[in-house]
Amino acid sequence: MLDLKYVVAHADEVRTNSRNRNAPADVIEDIDRIVALEGERRTLQSAVEEIRRRQNEVAQATGKEKDRERRAELIDEGKRLKAEVGDREDQLRVMDDEIRQRLRRIPNLTHPDAPVGRTEDDSAEIRKVGTPRTFDFPVKDHVELGKARDLIDFETGGKVSGTGFYFLKNDAVLLDLALQQFAIRTLVGKGFTPVVTPDLARNSILEGIGFTPRGVETQVYSVEDTDLSLVGTAEITLGGMLADELLDEAALPIKLVGLSHCFRTEAGAAGRASRGLYRVHQFTKVEMFAFTTPEGSGAIHAEMLAIEEELFTALGIPYRVLDICTGDLGGPAYRKYDVEAWMPGRGESGEYGEVTSTSDCTDYQSRRLNIRYRPAGQKGTRFVHTLNGTALALSRALIVVLENYQRADGRIDVPEVLRPYVGKDVIG
Ligand code: AMP
Repeated sequence: MLDLKYVVAHADEVRTNSRNRNAPADVIEDIDRIVALEGERRTLQSAVEEIRRRQNEVAQATGKEKDRERRAELIDEGKRLKAEVGDREDQLRVMDDEIRQRLRRIPNLTHPDAPVGRTEDDSAEIRKVGTPRTFDFPVKDHVELGKARDLIDFETGGKVSGTGFYFLKNDAVLLDLALQQFAIRTLVGKGFTPVVTPDLARNSILEGIGFTPRGVETQVYSVEDTDLSLVGTAEITLGGMLADELLDEAALPIKLVGLSHCFRTEAGAAGRASRGLYRVHQFTKVEMFAFTTPEGSGAIHAEMLAIEEELFTALGIPYRVLDICTGDLGGPAYRKYDVEAWMPGRGESGEYGEVTSTSDCTDYQSRRLNIRYRPAGQKGTRFVHTLNGTALALSRALIVVLENYQRADGRIDVPEVLRPYVGKDVIG
C-alpha cells in the first residue's frame, strides 16, 4: 500500500504509474476519489477538532458558572457537542475505511529503470548464460520421460485430485528432495535462517502481502467457513511472521529461507504454456524472504538474483535473466527479475521457461502488515522494506533437470551437486 500523503501530493505520477502497470480502469479512477475523499476527511477532521475545542471551553465554563440557568444551558450544549462529535467520528471512521480500501488496490511505485511495457514480451533480457546442450537423439519432454520411467504420474493425480495434480514416484521423489536440500543448504551457507512454514494462512495476512483471497482475480484456494486460505507461496507466511512487529535497526536485515507447499487455482491460465509440471495446482517451493531498511533493499535484491543464478549455474542449466516490464509487475513489486531456464522439451526445439522470480516490494507490504523498525540514533519509526525471491520451485526445477540431463535410453544423469543428496549418479 502506498503512503496516503504521497498519493494525494503526487496524484498524476501515481496515475501514470498505475496505467503503466496495467492497473484496472476502476483502480485508476479511484486515485481521484481518494484525493477527494482525503480532502473531505481533512475538513471533517478540522470540524471535529473545533467541536472538541468548544467542548473543553464549555466544560471549563460549566465548572465555574454560578448561575443555575446559565449552567443548565452549558450542560445542554455540552451534551449536544458530545453527540455531534460522536456522529462526526463515526463518519470519519467510515471515510478512513473507504480510503484504506481504495488505497490498498493501487499498485506500488516502480523503479525508474524498470522497462515500461504492457505484456511479458516487453520485459528486457539482461543476460543469457550457458549454451543449450545439443542432443544426438530425439529429445523427450519431462512428461514422456516421467511416464516412461514411472517417475511422474499425472493420470493418478487426475483421478485422485483432478487435472493439474500429479504423484511423484520412485527416483523423482529422491530428486525432488535433493533439490530442496541443495537449495536450503546453499541458502543456510549464505546466512539465511531456514523455516518450514504453515501451508495455510489467515486471509488478513494474504491481503497484507498483496493477494486477494476472495477477490475477482483470485489465484487462491480459500477454506470454507474459516478465515484461512492455502498459501500460493511461502512469501505469504514468511512476510506474515513479523506482522505488527516493531524491530530495532540492529536486527536488520532478517534473511529467511522458507519451505512450503504452494497452491494455485491458476484461474484464467488456460491456453498458457502449461504442459505437465509447468503450471500445476500444487508444488513445493524454497523461497527467500528478507526484511531490511530502505537503504539496504537494492543490495538484497541483487543478492537474491545472484543466488538464483548461482543455483542454476551449479545445476549446469543454461538460463537468461529478465528485467520485468511495468505491465507485468503485479501489485507489490517495485522491481522484479525473472530467471528463465532452458527447457529442451518445450516448444518445437526447446525454449526458456520461467523458473524463479525475485521482487523488491519496498514498503508496500510492510505498510499493509504494519512492520516497522526504529532507525538507530533517530526519533520515530519507519516501515521496513521486504523482498522475496524463488530459490528453487519444484516442479519447474524438476522439469529442467529431467529434460537437460536425459539420456537416449530415457534415464537421467543426476547433476553432480545433487549426487550426495540423491545417493545415485543416474536415475530412472
Ligand atoms: P511467483 O511466486 O508467482 O513469482 O512464482 C515463483 C515461481 O514459482 C515461478 O518462477 C515458477 O517457477 C513457480 N510457479 C509459479 N506458479 C506455478 C505453477 N502453477 N506451477 C508450477 N510452478 C509454478
